[in-house]
Amino acid sequence: MVAQKLPPEPKALRVAIIGGGPAGLGAAIALSALPNVQVDIYEKAQVLREVGAGIRIGYNGWKVLELLGAADKITGHLKNSVTHRNGLNGNVVGGTGESSFPLQYQPRRVRRTRLQSGLVSTVPEGVIHLNKGVASIEDIFNGGVKVNFQDGTYTTVDLVVGADGIRSVVRDSIFPDHTIKFTGTTIWRTLIPITSVKDIGPEVYAGTSWWFGTAGHVYFSPVDDKNELGEEERQFEISCRNLVDPATDTTKRFSWGVPATNERVVSHFTDYDPRVREALSRVPEGNWKEFAAFAGPRLETLHGWDKVVLLGDASHPLSGAFGSGAAFALEDGWVLARAIEHTRGAPKGLAKALQVFDAIRSPYYLRMYEYLDGQKDKTQSAQQSSEDQSFEAKLKIRVSSFGGEKFLPWIYHNDIEKVWDEYLIGETSTNGVH
Ligand SMILES: Cc1cc2nc3c(=O)[nH]c(=O)nc-3n(C[C@H](O)[C@H](O)[C@H](O)COP(=O)(O)OP(=O)(O)OC[C@H]3O[C@@H](n4cnc5c(N)ncnc54)[C@H](O)[C@@H]3O)c2cc1C
Repeated sequence: MVAQKLPPEPKALRVAIIGGGPAGLGAAIALSALPNVQVDIYEKAQVLREVGAGIRIGYNGWKVLELLGAADKITGHLKNSVTHRNGLNGNVVGGTGESSFPLQYQPRRVRRTRLQSGLVSTVPEGVIHLNKGVASIEDIFNGGVKVNFQDGTYTTVDLVVGADGIRSVVRDSIFPDHTIKFTGTTIWRTLIPITSVKDIGPEVYAGTSWWFGTAGHVYFSPVDDKNELGEEERQFEISCRNLVDPATDTTKRFSWGVPATNERVVSHFTDYDPRVREALSRVPEGNWKEFAAFAGPRLETLHGWDKVVLLGDASHPLSGAFGSGAAFALEDGWVLARAIEHTRGAPKGLAKALQVFDAIRSPYYLRMYEYLDGQKDKTQSAQQSSEDQSFEAKLKIRVSSFGGEKFLPWIYHNDIEKVWDEYLIGETSTNGVH
C-alpha cells in the first residue's frame, strides 16, 4: 500500500502578545486555538487588575465573547432603561428603552473585573507572564522580532501583537512619529455598594442615568445582575466627566487610574442637582480613580515590518469614544486569528495574514474617525445656531444628536463572524473563483 503524503505541517509560529487587557487576552484565546502556534502574553503589571469601574457590553461584545467561549462567564446589570437628564435640575431630556435582541445579546453594564476574569479563565494555562513590561522591540533583518523587556531580558518571536493600550510601546516602535494628546476630558470612576445610594431615590439607583452639566456629566449605573446577587452584594457605578480646553490646560495629566480625593472630584459638580451631589458624597474617601483621556490620529495601517500588528486601543487611540472599545479589542484578536489560519502555509503567509487583518479592520476604524469628525462639526454648528437658547434647550439638541445604538448599527450591531464570512466571499469573487 502506498503511504498517503500528508501536507507539511506549517512551521511553529511564535507569537508574543504585549499587554493583558481585553485585546491581549482575546487574541491569546483565539490564537491558542490554532494548531502549532505558541502564544505568550507579556504584561507589565504584577497582578492583572482592572482599575476602571464598569464597562458596557452590547451585541457586538457578546457576539465576539461567544466566539471566544467566554460569554457565559460574564454577567451584569441589564440596561433595559437609560435616562438622560439635565444634571443641574434633574429634568428628563431623553433616553432609550428596551433592546429588541434576545436576552443573551442585550446590553449590560458589567464590572470590569468580571470581563477580565471571564477572559483570563479562558486563556490556556502558562500563557500569561506578569511583571514583564516591554521596553522596546527590534526588527531582526531576515528574521523575527526581538522583544526587549524592562528587566533586561529579551525573547525572539515570529510575530509581535501590540495589545499594550493607548500608550503603546509597540506602536511607538513601528510608527515613531505618531503621538497622542490630552483631549481635555478628565474622568473619575468608582464602584460603591448599591445600598449606599438607595435612599436617594430610584431616579439615581434603579437604572442607568446620565446627568449632564455645562462642562461634563455624571453617570450612574448598577453593574450586577439582580438575578445573580442579593442587594447587599450588588455594586453601583459612578463615573463623572469634566471637560477643559486642552489648549490652555497646563496640569500634568496621567493616562490611567490614579487616586483622587473626594474634594477634588466634587469640586467639579457643585452646581449639580442635590441628588447628584448627595450620591457623590456617599463615596468613601480613597475610592475614586482619575483617568485623563488621551487620543491620537488614525493610523494609516495597523501593521509594520510584516511581523508586528496592533490591536485594541493601541491600534485606534480613540479614548473610549463609542463606549465599545473592549468589543473592538476582542474583535481585533478574533479576526487576527482567522487571518493567520487563512494564510497559514502560503508563501509569506504571515505578511499576508497581517494584510488581510488590515484590510478588514483599518476601514472600520477609518469609519469611526470620520464619524467623530462629522459629529464635531454638527455639534459646533448646532451650538452656534442655538447660542441664545437655554442650557436645557441646547442639551436637548446635544442629546438628540447622540449616535446611539439604533443609529450606529455598524458599530453596536456588528457581528464579527459575519464580517469575516463576507470578507471571504469578497476575496473569492475578486480572485475569480466562484
Ligand atoms: C472612561 C472610559 C470608559 C470606557 N467605557 C467603555 C465601555 O463602557 N465599554 C467598552 O467596551 N469600552 C469602554 N472603554 C474603552 C475600553 O476600556 C478600552 O477600549 C479597552 O480597555 C481596550 O483594551 P486594550 O486591551 O486594547 O487596552 P488596555 O485595556 O489599556 O490594556 C492594555 C494592557 O497592556 C499593558 N501594558 C501597557 N504597556 C505595556 C508594556 N510596555 N509592556 C507590557 N504590558 C503593557 C497594560 O498594563 C494593560 O494591561 C472606555 C474607556 C474609557 C477611557
